[in-house]
Amino acid sequence: MQQLQVQMFSQQTAEQPYGDPWISSYLYDAEKCEVCFRTRFQTDSPARLSPCSHCRLAWWCSPECGKDFSKFHSKKHCEELQIIASVDRLEVDYAIDRKSFRHLMVRTDEPRTIYMPLSSIKGWSDYCEKVFPEFDYATSFTAQTIKTYHPDPTSAVRLLTMEASCFPLSVIAAMEDVITNISTRNRLCIHVVGAASRELQGKGMLEELLHFLPKLRVARIFFAGPEAEDHQDTGKNLACERCIPKGRSRTCSYYEGTYHDFARTKEALDNRPDLIVGLNTGMSEIQSDSWMKTLRVIQDMDIPALFTAYTKKEGESEIALMTRMGFGIRKGLELNKWKGVVLKTNNYWNTDKDGPIASYNSYYRYIVQGRA
Ligand SMILES: [Zn+2]
Ligand SMILES: [Zn+2]
Ligand SMILES: [Zn+2]
Repeated sequence: MQQLQVQMFSQQTAEQPYGDPWISSYLYDAEKCEVCFRTRFQTDSPARLSPCSHCRLAWWCSPECGKDFSKFHSKKHCEELQIIASVDRLEVDYAIDRKSFRHLMVRTDEPRTIYMPLSSIKGWSDYCEKVFPEFDYATSFTAQTIKTYHPDPTSAVRLLTMEASCFPLSVIAAMEDVITNISTRNRLCIHVVGAASRELQGKGMLEELLHFLPKLRVARIFFAGPEAEDHQDTGKNLACERCIPKGRSRTCSYYEGTYHDFARTKEALDNRPDLIVGLNTGMSEIQSDSWMKTLRVIQDMDIPALFTAYTKKEGESEIALMTRMGFGIRKGLELNKWKGVVLKTNNYWNTDKDGPIASYNSYYRYIVQGRA
């Protein structure tokens, strides 16, 4: 059913058939035996993989593999896959319903009038209590507006809301760490490096900057990356209907290319950032010349730069790389309090010799600046 929907959907938007990683994950993470890793085309009896009755996202291929299935598919793994299946399903239904790849976004309604440091908030439930009291209502209302056969769309919308909030909250938390007068700043400029679809489609969530920081009037966001093609909203005031009457603005600009090229443009030079942000860049795996050039430029700019990684391992090798380059480390590698909540699947991570590696959107974070 899901696959059928993906096909229908890709026909509707022929120019970008499998552009969204959320949707394409159904195609790439195809059925395979959890025990011997064979796909159904590699077994003796094609089309006969048996699914786990709970998550239906893990399979065994034969009676032999079936006997060992529970050893390779733990209860924890199954629960995580149930969450993945739940949000993937809703994302697909949402995309079909709205005929758009836009990510589902539920934001706080009201700009705050008093600054409350994010560092004083313990985690997501504390955040809902103190900052986002309308969370339950807003998410269940949104769930009702989506045409879906999902058995529990509200819980999926809640997970997706938390997942989408990872972007603005990680940015705010980093600014609190490195900008001493953050609570009284009325202008902020952010450069997003290697901006990918998650940041570009989730850019509306950055309205939370205006809502969280009562003194902030002007938020300017610059996205640079190969996927950051120019958009019709460039330079427009994207602030919400509650913020605009208060004279506040949030603008986005895009540079389709590398950050080190962008950094040379007049636009970048005229808009020196307060924070540079690179989320889940995977730079240590790529280790390309291009990333090295970008890192050199960031180092020379001497601006605080927040980076996040999907896994601890990835974060560790990035910090090692930064240290070799002589970066000043302002915040060492640590768990991100505002990480994503939906486990990411990746066949390489899942088959590491030490067992499955937990990976979340912006799971770990660190902040560097200039030279040590
Ligand atoms: Zn098997
Ligand atoms: Zn399962
Ligand atoms: Zn607003």
